[in-house]
Amino acid sequence: MDMGIKPMKRTLRMLWHNLYTARQPRTGADRWKAFLSQVTPEAVASTALSTAAARALFKRLVRVVEIEPHSFCNRQCAFCTNALINRRGANVLFPDQVYQRLLANLASIGYAQKILFARYSEPLAHEHIIEMLHAARAACPASEIMITSNGDYLDRDMLKRLASSGLNRLHVSIYLANDETWTSALAAQRVAAFRQRLGVQPHHHQANEAMIYEDYKVPGLALFSCGAQNLAVTGFDRGGALHQLTKSSFSRLPPCPMVFENFTVDYNGLVMPCCNLRGDDPAQARLSLGDLRLSDIFTIYGGTAAASWRRRLAGFGPKAPPCASCKQSLPPDEQGESLRGAWRRAFARKGLQALTDHGIRQGTQ
Ligand code: SF4
Ligand code: SF4
Repeated sequence: MDMGIKPMKRTLRMLWHNLYTARQPRTGADRWKAFLSQVTPEAVASTALSTAAARALFKRLVRVVEIEPHSFCNRQCAFCTNALINRRGANVLFPDQVYQRLLANLASIGYAQKILFARYSEPLAHEHIIEMLHAARAACPASEIMITSNGDYLDRDMLKRLASSGLNRLHVSIYLANDETWTSALAAQRVAAFRQRLGVQPHHHQANEAMIYEDYKVPGLALFSCGAQNLAVTGFDRGGALHQLTKSSFSRLPPCPMVFENFTVDYNGLVMPCCNLRGDDPAQARLSLGDLRLSDIFTIYGGTAAASWRRRLAGFGPKAPPCASCKQSLPPDEQGESLRGAWRRAFARKGLQALTDHGIRQGTQ
């Protein structure tokens, strides 16, 4: 397939966006229209919401609850902040009491969107993931429950157990070693070896010079997919932490839907504004929105810290670190110039003029 670099990156972002964040895959334009409708005065309030309002807002907006099931990952990929923060030491499990409370909170609003087990851990590195899946399925019977894994601990037996544990989607990211250079031929070899190890054949296959994606039919799973990407091209700079992935000529202007739609929890219960940021990074720990060991999910989502992030990222305009260089969740034309007018008009109707164009910069309130 012959594609220019920009269309190729767009295709990749859409594919990965659909995998990770959309229950019903939406096209770029639809996604941004839906996001615009979510930016209501209540979502960007400058004072904490009442419990009832926070519960309603969470139910209306949150599409992905991402949980780090434990601290351990067996790899230290160069394009991941685990290259800077070693996660190969003792494995600290997500506290069970906190997990049960989180699930009870979700069950109390009939949460039916995605629950994703991932972050900077390898979810299949510890058996307790099976129990966590069963508990999530019992609490949220209509949710789409997903794991993303590096595949290192996955074998045919584990695949069967996962498929009968309440999981809907399993996505395996195939990574090359840090001393290997990406070529599509090498990636294709690794994907073929993975298929052979798991005894599966693709029923859908898509590839270009920077990625391979395919999926397989497995009884009990709505989706079992595998992908390999050239992350030196497509990786994110993780809030500026990965300097080699920061593009100096790029400054983010578009809003960020992540702080509206995602609820992201570290292995220790700290809630972060998005999947790029982590509470065990000393430079990012202060960005935490709250601690689930001390609060429930609604207090944190409806609290002033979370609302302040949403206010700062609701409109077009320059963003401050850690968002200034972030390319996560950009509109299809990268800087969203064609959306900007629609944003301005909609914000005027909603009385949110102060949040558009020049925005509110991080750290100014
Ligand atoms: S990218 Fe995944 S497998 Fe690699 S270090 Fe990060 S969490 Fe681990
Ligand atoms: S723009 Fe900021 S909040 Fe949004 S994904 Fe990037 S780092 Fe996270």
